[in-house]
Amino acid sequence: MNEKQKVVLVTGSSRGIGRGIALEMARQGYAVVVHGSADSAHLFSAYEEVAQLSPASIRVVADLFVSSSIRDMFDVVRSAFCGLDALVNNAAVQNPGSITEIKESDWDRVLSVNLKAPFLCAQQAVPLMQSRGGGKIVNISSVHATDPRRNYAHYSCAKAGLEMLTKCMALELAPYGIQANSIVVGAIGTELTPPERQAIVLPAVPAQRIGAIEEIARLVTFLCSHSCDYMTGASIAVDGGLTLGFCASRPEL
Ligand code: NAP
Repeated sequence: MNEKQKVVLVTGSSRGIGRGIALEMARQGYAVVVHGSADSAHLFSAYEEVAQLSPASIRVVADLFVSSSIRDMFDVVRSAFCGLDALVNNAAVQNPGSITEIKESDWDRVLSVNLKAPFLCAQQAVPLMQSRGGGKIVNISSVHATDPRRNYAHYSCAKAGLEMLTKCMALELAPYGIQANSIVVGAIGTELTPPERQAIVLPAVPAQRIGAIEEIARLVTFLCSHSCDYMTGASIAVDGGLTLGFCASRPEL
């Protein structure tokens, strides 16, 4: 690998939005660490597609619920590359359930994968970014960080925490030349938002359409570029106006 080639780790890039981000970063010339929770066929196909665009890319398996698995993932990154230029904390789980029914084990899993893992990944990433003179962290958040959703208390709390974690990262890591920002994602067509859910959400979206994966991926590449070196701690909504407030879901107002 060319030592000047930039390296990005995109968690949860085996499918969905993460896969789109990995492909867009590969198109921008990054060597991509393509990640999934298991050695699945979709992880392999995502990796193959990314590697065609950027041959120095690698794939790695890690269950982000397990701290030692996160450390092992970074051992692989350290041995494959001399550093890391960008970390995209994208992987997430939902495991829906009402407040009265959510099992403690599901609460722990959702909070761990969606909030604790981005923190642990950032802790591992910082020294690798320092060796490059700086870096970028992009946290993939959700409109449910601020708008509560029935049956998703754990998911909403995790995303709300991720918003604050982004600001804390921005504050503490700025002296190292590391910028951290978050993208507040609206309804995007993936397994997390299947067609039946899209049909329910659509009337509340002022833009009157569901978002495309590429619309998130292109913003990630911009946030990871030098154009955003003075931007840190920001939270950017890409939601077609879904979170604009009361009038957003009432065309008559
Ligand atoms: P998705 O299609 O369900 O993909 C989830 C990804 O996370 C997969 O790559 C999955 O890996 C990985 N993952 C799940 N549990 C994991 C674990 N324990 N360890 C390691 N990796 C794990 O999700 P998506 O819709 O693309 O969502 C991507 C991000 O956007 C998430 O942060 C989500 O909260 C956010 N978001 C999405 C929407 C939407 O409408 N889609 C809306 C708001 C926010 P495997 O393939 O191995 O399972």
